[in-house]
Amino acid sequence: MVEQVDVVVIGMGPGGEEVAGRLAETGLSVVGVEKRLLGGECPYWGCVPSKMMVRAANLVAEARRIPDMAGEVTVRPDWTPVAARIRAEATDNWDDKVAVDWFVGKGGGFVRGHGRISAPGEVTVGDLVFRARRGIVLATGGQPDAPPVTGLAGTPYWTNREAIEADRVPGSLAVLGGGSVGVELAQVFGRFGAEVSVLEGSDRLLSTEEPEASELVATALAADGITVRTDAQVEEVRYSDGRFAMLTAGEPVEAERLLVATGRRVDLRSLGVGVLGLDESARHVAVDEHLRAAPGVWAVGDITGKGAFTHVAMYQAGIAARDILGEPGPGANYRALPRVTFTDPEIGTVGLTEAQAREAGIAVRTGSARVPSSARGWIHKAGNAGFIKLVEDTDRAVLVGATSAGPAGGEVLSALAVAVHAEVPTAQLRQMIYAYPTFHGGISDALTDLAA
Ligand SMILES: Cc1cc2nc3c(=O)[nH]c(=O)nc-3n(C[C@H](O)[C@H](O)[C@H](O)COP(=O)(O)OP(=O)(O)OC[C@H]3O[C@@H](n4cnc5c(N)ncnc54)[C@H](O)[C@@H]3O)c2cc1C
Repeated sequence: MVEQVDVVVIGMGPGGEEVAGRLAETGLSVVGVEKRLLGGECPYWGCVPSKMMVRAANLVAEARRIPDMAGEVTVRPDWTPVAARIRAEATDNWDDKVAVDWFVGKGGGFVRGHGRISAPGEVTVGDLVFRARRGIVLATGGQPDAPPVTGLAGTPYWTNREAIEADRVPGSLAVLGGGSVGVELAQVFGRFGAEVSVLEGSDRLLSTEEPEASELVATALAADGITVRTDAQVEEVRYSDGRFAMLTAGEPVEAERLLVATGRRVDLRSLGVGVLGLDESARHVAVDEHLRAAPGVWAVGDITGKGAFTHVAMYQAGIAARDILGEPGPGANYRALPRVTFTDPEIGTVGLTEAQAREAGIAVRTGSARVPSSARGWIHKAGNAGFIKLVEDTDRAVLVGATSAGPAGGEVLSALAVAVHAEVPTAQLRQMIYAYPTFHGGISDALTDLAA
């Protein structure tokens, strides 16, 4: 059956759902194609349930901080309410009926299945063929990737999906990969009693963030009893009798469960983008600032490689929807891209790290302040580890990047994100009044250090 529509959106994660919803609300005929669950990775196996896990783990850690500060407490972590909450409140037991009804209620058409571009302007889903008058939006995100380690394929290793679906905490867990997903989940399971080891191939955790952030997270994980091994190249994985063994140059690591958190992969071949003249072996779909990938084709979200975050997918969706509607507006600008690793302490970063700024040829000056040395950090006491680091372009006297790590580090980040986004002169930031005693007050201390 061939159907003429205005727009076909392939992949209904945060990016696809947003662009499809916005267009459907304008009265265009929009078909959203989704092979798994409408909502994508974020609500079912990503941001939302993982942050429910983080919240629960932080409660446990905070309760353990009561002695010496507020009396006595006995903490017996129990995974049952965490797993129950993920099923009841986040994922509806991995059922997207509410999301589908919501989208259809906006006037969208929904088709469950694998969408493939069968000709320019045409998408095939099983027996259905859609011809798009206005355009096609590619929003198929990525999927968990695993490194080509001998023995790994075929073992029952976890990706983020099995970790989120876990209904009990394993006795021991090895985490392959010390990026955001790896360290967040390592800390969660560690705080709920698993014996956790993190194996990271590079020389530090969170290798794309500031080295000070890597050090802070490594210290925090160690304090939670987690073993962190950097420069750890896993050469082989063995699985027998319900146990994994990871062979490295050093001591092998054994665990009941293995979580592979080494990144995500975009599959352009099964999407059939070659029909559009696009490279199917590329890591991402190249887009211009209006998210155009080819004539009549837009791409949004993880598939574009501009930052694998829900907020990037949503931001791009707004720009693509406007462009499809022919409305003028600014193109995408990632200068002030914020990102948060939800460990305790939280690591919030915006824009460039010091190393990235130097690599870009920027004349750089940095300023830092330790959270425990600030008034609020000192008052907070237990769990106050953290810092604020500013990266200034000295030629223009504006911040091009900043990191705020510590309690509520991701919230403190908002002020720094405004500064980087709006290119507020550092002289003006110094003239601001910072509320006392707040964690964001540390920005003022870091600015003082910047000038020193
Ligand atoms: C554990 C974890 C925690 C995370 N935490 C955060 C966080 O705290 N904050 C944050 O900003 N980001 C977080 N992320 C990242 C975030 O989930 C992604 O950046 C976001 O989901 C990307 O949205 P998307 O629309 O590009 O793609 P996706 O969410 O990946 O959705 C793409 C959809 O397309 C579907 N699809 C794929 N191919 C086809 C096809 N051919 N036909 C039909 N459908 C198809 C898929 O089934 C999927 O539903 C996290 C990710 C993980 C794994």
